[in-house]
Amino acid sequence: MEEALAAGLGAEPAAPLEGDTEADVAIVGGGYTGLWTALALKERDPSLDVVVLDADECGRGPSGRNGGFLHGYWSHLPRLRERFGDEGALAVARAGEGIVRGVRAFCEANDADVWLREAGMLRVSAAPAQDRSVNDEVEAAQALGVTDEAVPLSRNELAERVRSPAFRGGVFLRDGATIQPARLALSLRKAALDSVRLHEHTRVARIEDGRLETDYGIVRARDVVVATNAAAAGWQPLKRRLTVFGSYVVLTEPVPELLEQIGWTGGEAIFDGRMFLHYFRTTNDGRVLMGSGSGPIGFGGRLDRRFTHDEPTVARAEHGLRHLLPDLTGAKVTHAWGGPIDVSSDHLPFFGTVAGTRIHYGAGYSGHGAGPSWLGGQILACEEAEEQGRTPPLPARAGAALPRLLGMRVGTR
Ligand SMILES: Cc1cc2nc3c(=O)[nH]c(=O)nc-3n(C[C@H](O)[C@H](O)[C@H](O)COP(=O)(O)OP(=O)(O)OC[C@H]3O[C@@H](n4cnc5c(N)ncnc54)[C@H](O)[C@@H]3O)c2cc1C
Repeated sequence: MEEALAAGLGAEPAAPLEGDTEADVAIVGGGYTGLWTALALKERDPSLDVVVLDADECGRGPSGRNGGFLHGYWSHLPRLRERFGDEGALAVARAGEGIVRGVRAFCEANDADVWLREAGMLRVSAAPAQDRSVNDEVEAAQALGVTDEAVPLSRNELAERVRSPAFRGGVFLRDGATIQPARLALSLRKAALDSVRLHEHTRVARIEDGRLETDYGIVRARDVVVATNAAAAGWQPLKRRLTVFGSYVVLTEPVPELLEQIGWTGGEAIFDGRMFLHYFRTTNDGRVLMGSGSGPIGFGGRLDRRFTHDEPTVARAEHGLRHLLPDLTGAKVTHAWGGPIDVSSDHLPFFGTVAGTRIHYGAGYSGHGAGPSWLGGQILACEEAEEQGRTPPLPARAGAALPRLLGMRVGTR
């Protein structure tokens, strides 16, 4: 966020809501999900009156401070097969192919530099127990006849992309990119400021069908979209479907010469095969970010300081850096931060409508929402367009298959 603000992407906070108002669609939460939904709605129907309310400033939640791994679902193939069978898995993974394209198109249309680097991802094994996770990805791609989506790499082949004594082998996933997350969040916010009504520092205290209550007034809207991520774990309709975990990252000083030494100059994002995985990447200014998904677990949707100030998880992230990339010993950690993630039971997001209402929601990204929130925005905006008698663009139609596969329907009463 510091870097994005220094690059001039910030803007004065949007004025809080002042008094009661009406809109066609009211969106609660201005992270990636809320903002992509708002922009997708306006793209489909510029005359639609859309209001976005955020308790803070848009992008100050996890959307502005994640690790910047941007990908769809080819990296989730084994899990998808288990959950939806082969055809379903392929449909979801193909729907996710629109994500990087969608972000690229947004950047081009809005002249936004979000440091999008389309260099693919590596899953590496750093212990015998992690070999399985690499093999599972390769086997799933082979079984579905999509071998290009998960290319196995021997220890030596992996070393051609990045050298570490800890790596035993890996798999290259071409569906993957990195972004500067705060640049994307602030660029989306800027685009939203130009096209929808945005009110910041406006917490929604109560969500009802067609009605949102805040300290500053009531918003009445035909459709309501709840895009509050981990905070949705405290919202009655989703309470039992989400658990909150903490995810933390550390960031080093710029060390381009050390990256040259270990040959990690291709920009690939990397994650290991642990259950609470390490995820690591380089940045455009030559830093290394190392993340650990092993943070505290929350109950009842309470989001306290443990999700932003948990020293033991920061220490685990730094330990991951030293253990997985020992040749970067000289790299000093300059920043560390964390945030809550919304974990669903199968680690896949879900989109739906509260029964008997026009309150729609998307959540459950389980720490992988940077890319899928684009898809979420298309899904949440899609049925609206269909209802108005317009045919949504193809990626949105592909995206709309996702909630149906998940056995839910984003729709209307
Ligand atoms: C440290 C960390 C690293 C991560 N790394 C990655 C990664 O590399 N790749 C990846 O894909 N994902 C990553 N994630 C997850 C990713 O950041 C999220 O999945 C994604 O940002 C979710 O976007 P969102 O818009 O749904 O939620 P958020 O960005 O959390 O936005 C929700 C918004 O709702 C607002 N809000 C909440 N309650 C209310 C209310 N009552 N009224 C009004 N507004 C409200 C909040 O202020 C917030 O702005 C990471 C997460 C963390 C914490």
